[in-house]
Amino acid sequence: MVDPVGTGVVSAFGTLLKGLQTIKDLAVSVEIKAKVTELYDVILSGQQSALESNIKQQALLDTIGQLKEEIARVKAWEETKKRYSLYEPTAGTFVYVIKEESKGEEPSHWICANCYNEGKRSILQLKTVGVENNHYLCPLCKTEFKVRGTRPMQNVQVNRGPRNPNSWMA
Ligand SMILES: [Zn+2]
Repeated sequence: MVDPVGTGVVSAFGTLLKGLQTIKDLAVSVEIKAKVTELYDVILSGQQSALESNIKQQALLDTIGQLKEEIARVKAWEETKKRYSLYEPTAGTFVYVIKEESKGEEPSHWICANCYNEGKRSILQLKTVGVENNHYLCPLCKTEFKVRGTRPMQNVQVNRGPRNPNSWMA
């Protein structure tokens, strides 16, 4: 580990100061006492700057730690987002759907397009079943998605043809 002004240095200054205090207590000569006091001040300011460097170094290490976490999170999200593709279950409604080949053990599902753009995976939940439309809710950002009566399947075709009230149920 690189620790040029770490806790070791700071505590070494502390030991020095204690030693000087002892000398000062024992010293009888005024001159020696004055010299020791002088040294004491020099060491004290040295300790102070070592302590400050130590704090700065700790802050840097904390920042590096946070950055590492952020990089790991971004990398994990890059892997997750590859599993989904943009999908339009109903004209004008956009979600991301899990790709067939990426499903694994998971059932088909949709995730929120808004949260996807924020780097988050939020699985849409069926909220209400209507006569014409079902409403799906994003539990994270609370966006509602109006979808014609379909299940989260990738192969559902968007009905853009002439209105046939039963066609979407097929
Ligand atoms: Zn969302």
